[in-house]
Amino acid sequence: MPSTERVLRSEVVVLRHTDWGEADRLLVLYSREAGKLRAVAKGARKLRSRKAGHLEPFTRVKLMLARGRDFWIVTQAETVDAYMPLREDLLRTGYAAYVIELLDRFTYEEGENRPLYQLLTDTLERISLLPDAFVAVRYYEIHLLDLLGFRPELFRCVRCQTEIKAENQYFDALHGGVVCPNCIGQTPTARPVSMNVLKHLRHFQRSSFRDALRADPSPAVRSELEAVLTYYLTYLLERKLNASAFIKVVRSGPTSEDLH
Ligand SMILES: [Zn+2]
Repeated sequence: MPSTERVLRSEVVVLRHTDWGEADRLLVLYSREAGKLRAVAKGARKLRSRKAGHLEPFTRVKLMLARGRDFWIVTQAETVDAYMPLREDLLRTGYAAYVIELLDRFTYEEGENRPLYQLLTDTLERISLLPDAFVAVRYYEIHLLDLLGFRPELFRCVRCQTEIKAENQYFDALHGGVVCPNCIGQTPTARPVSMNVLKHLRHFQRSSFRDALRADPSPAVRSELEAVLTYYLTYLLERKLNASAFIKVVRSGPTSEDLH
């Protein structure tokens, strides 16, 4: 638990929940005030629980939490935004589930990150409201990487530091950025990235969302953008999962990760 307070008033997004005991739910939350948290909602699985409706995944909710022995305990819940359109359309549901899962997999209980909370709630709102959420999701990926310390280098070769021209290039997950044609021989893990895709990545990284939204990538650029970001995100997650397994072995005791 990140703070020593007895009571925490916080705005959160519910990432997921699991059944806990006979009638309770264990919630995984991302909070504006304290980052990732786990909390128990007592009696949330009873038919007439007043709290339960506020505590579904993807819901943005104001909570009052009291410190329990092992977890925070939800004492009050009030919905700020249920993002209803996310629940009424399969594609939007899929995008929202992806956004939530990415945040969940990249964060531990490491404390407050308000810009990340803001990015999460902005993105859920964009997916709810925009007719086409493709750019919103790619924008989220790039800025999530930035806020977690994995900002991809898109302007200088990650091996020789030469300025990279906006032409067909390579991207290397291992070094976290673009590689120039001269260095490609030394980076066997790099994959090609076309000029057009590199331009889009740079635009999304540097621009406000309003400006990013002016981009209208073709279907070919869309699938390549998605592929290069998936390649980098997957690499980082695998590395992170290995690190977490290692930490677990070193601690050789149960961690909060065991509660999945
Ligand atoms: Zn180079």
